[in-house]
Amino acid sequence: MAKELPKSLDQVETKTVECDLLIVGGGNAGCFAAYEAKQVNPDLNVVIMEKANIKRSGACAAGMDALNTYIPTWDGKTPEDLVRWSREQVGGGPIREDLALSNAQELNQCVEELEEWGLPIIYDEDEEHPHYRGSWDISIHGEQLKPIMAEKAMDSAEVYNRIVATALIMDGERCAGAMGFGVRDGKFYVFKAKATIVSTGGACGIYKSYTSDGTASHHQTWMCPFNVGTGYAMGLRKGAEFTSMEQRWVAARTKDYCGPVDTVSVGYKAKMMNAKGEYFLNERYAHLGGDKAPRYIRANAPMEEWREGRGPTYVDSTHLDEEQCKNMLTDYLNERPSFVLYLAANGIDPTEQPVEVYGSDPYIVGGHTGSGYWVDMERMTTVPGLFAAGETAGGNPNKFVGGCAAEGKLATRGAIKFIEANGDVNIDESQVEAEKARVFKPLFRGKDFDGLTPEEIKERLQRLMDEYAGGTSQFYRCNEEQLDYALKHIKLLQEQSGEYITASDLHELMHAHEVFDRIDVAEIVCHHLKGRKETRWSGWQTRSDYPERDDENFNCFVETRKNPETGEIEVFTRPYERIVD
Ligand SMILES: Cc1cc2nc3c(=O)[nH]c(=O)nc-3n(C[C@H](O)[C@H](O)[C@H](O)COP(=O)(O)OP(=O)(O)OC[C@H]3O[C@@H](n4cnc5c(N)ncnc54)[C@H](O)[C@@H]3O)c2cc1C
Repeated sequence: MAKELPKSLDQVETKTVECDLLIVGGGNAGCFAAYEAKQVNPDLNVVIMEKANIKRSGACAAGMDALNTYIPTWDGKTPEDLVRWSREQVGGGPIREDLALSNAQELNQCVEELEEWGLPIIYDEDEEHPHYRGSWDISIHGEQLKPIMAEKAMDSAEVYNRIVATALIMDGERCAGAMGFGVRDGKFYVFKAKATIVSTGGACGIYKSYTSDGTASHHQTWMCPFNVGTGYAMGLRKGAEFTSMEQRWVAARTKDYCGPVDTVSVGYKAKMMNAKGEYFLNERYAHLGGDKAPRYIRANAPMEEWREGRGPTYVDSTHLDEEQCKNMLTDYLNERPSFVLYLAANGIDPTEQPVEVYGSDPYIVGGHTGSGYWVDMERMTTVPGLFAAGETAGGNPNKFVGGCAAEGKLATRGAIKFIEANGDVNIDESQVEAEKARVFKPLFRGKDFDGLTPEEIKERLQRLMDEYAGGTSQFYRCNEEQLDYALKHIKLLQEQSGEYITASDLHELMHAHEVFDRIDVAEIVCHHLKGRKETRWSGWQTRSDYPERDDENFNCFVETRKNPETGEIEVFTRPYERIVD
């Protein structure tokens, strides 16, 4: 915290930093983007703007027990095979196969680099090949995954930790960097850059979680609670095009804890079971692949069991022997360490009783589903000079750790080409002053101002989205009228938050901006959900008024673009191009 809070805007110091390449978000993709810049051109001046501390920030902060995508080339598998699998995981498409293929071609090298840098990968007993727990995912001891990536990024770029990005800087139509504030030092930061990569992860906390335990995030979430969609919000306010935001990520998670279920179900072959003892995936979803059905089906199925009165639902871990159970708990210690404490605190022995599972709240995460910026092959968004990588880049699901790393590299290569072709930026300083005033406004409303806390507005938004835009309480279903209601009330929240949100310190100021960003992302999510008048990925996207899949009209991408002048959101489609047989 700053020792003394500024009392007025004049007391807020502005710090300006000029660089060639700005990376907003030093997570998985951001670290690899920085590393790649150093490889391609060591003279490039690269800066990372990071909201937390890069050593433990983003989705990988707490560690992982697997890398979900690594192509077993020795087994004859190819990048095209990975694209085919990814397409199946989203019910046959649409996906951006051009992006998916280029990511897949880059993927193995990124995983091998992680191993070179010190990541312990678990090998089969013959020690020749990594141990696969499914078709594409390899087991790791990943507690140190993020510090390992961060070390390389810190060697490659100047890192500004604890700086919350709030807006892009523009040079006409071109992105010329980003602005934000220091959550510890209270300064206003202006990063001017010839090219900018936005890699701020996905959007968590748009929807209400079904638990509201006393955690700092006020709910149990599976996704990094500090990634709130700022990367999307900054771009949409400048008129960038977004794709597939209706394809929300919903996952089966351990109930009341939101721990990963694949660790048990895929890693230890524990089947999902309902209250009647039925292995429902094989009984009711055999035609869609049963236990191996695409993820959206496996995520939605337990919730359908609940809805039909056959809940609670479980993963049946009772076949595990003591040794297997110990290994499974070790896997959890690598990724969700406190889940092991949760089991102990609740007296749950997974060898004696099955582990209860439930659906997570929906997240917007373009490394998992297809939601995010529409990008070209260089990973440039429709805003010139603005690139997206990892969860922020859309159209290309199932990237996970390796794919986000690969995309960080690809975005850097694109950004470097852009810098070479376009050179310096020229900035109208009035936008800097306007943003500084907007950023600090909630802090200077005075203690007598009868306003609303960020928490109050956040809870309203989350409940609205949960009940009217297909959240957990609605078993992920929504219809046209509910979405219209949600959109009407989102407008009110936008007005009210702009006028009434107050912040008593810099930390609460960060929460205020998180709420602004979440509301703007929620708005386009609702437009996308409205735009897709069919049900393509039950759970991820379920329209109760259009329960069937409509390939004739919707085997395409649903897109949005917000007009920065009028605030109107245009909804349109783009065709799906199948390039891998
Ligand atoms: C709990 C969990 C378990 C997972 N398990 C696996 C697994 O086992 N295997 C696998 O392959 N994948 C797994 N994934 C998926 C994988 O981790 C992600 O797809 C990938 O790491 C995302 O990378 P990213 O760079 O897009 O985002 P992140 O790594 O989340 O990076 C985003 C960065 O942006 C920063 N940021 C956010 N907002 C701002 C702002 N306003 N200003 C500045 N900086 C900002 C964040 O602090 C963070 O550092 C898991 C994800 C989660 C959440």
